[in-house]
Amino acid sequence: MVSPLAEMISRRRVSMDDKRARNGSVKHEKTCLVCGKNFETFYPNKTYCSYECSNKAHLDGMKAAKEAGRPTFTAQDRTCGVCGKTFKSHHYRRRYCSASCSKSAISAQHAEKKRQRTNKPVVLHEN
Ligand SMILES: [Zn+2]
Ligand SMILES: [Zn+2]
Repeated sequence: MVSPLAEMISRRRVSMDDKRARNGSVKHEKTCLVCGKNFETFYPNKTYCSYECSNKAHLDGMKAAKEAGRPTFTAQDRTCGVCGKTFKSHHYRRRYCSASCSKSAISAQHAEKKRQRTNKPVVLHEN
């Protein structure tokens, strides 16, 4: 004799199979990777319950990729290219101890460029 519960389950299973056969697609039970909610989908590759969750996952992924791609840089001691002072650099491109030093470095570069442009032949031997 079949228990009422088992009968109910088997009947339910049949009706589910029925549905499946009718619309021709298989429903997948999935757990959303973002919010952890269980959801049903016809798409086997779907991993998020909603557009919001997939969007959030996409943004998080971009953030993670950005962080992974960033060069790891720890503060290090550098010598200023202008005044020769030692300073702690927190940026991998920083080469001068202060704004005024980087400013004077830039103007020195400009002066150098200007000098190269005019490039007057230097007379070395003037007897
Ligand atoms: Zn979700
Ligand atoms: Zn300096």
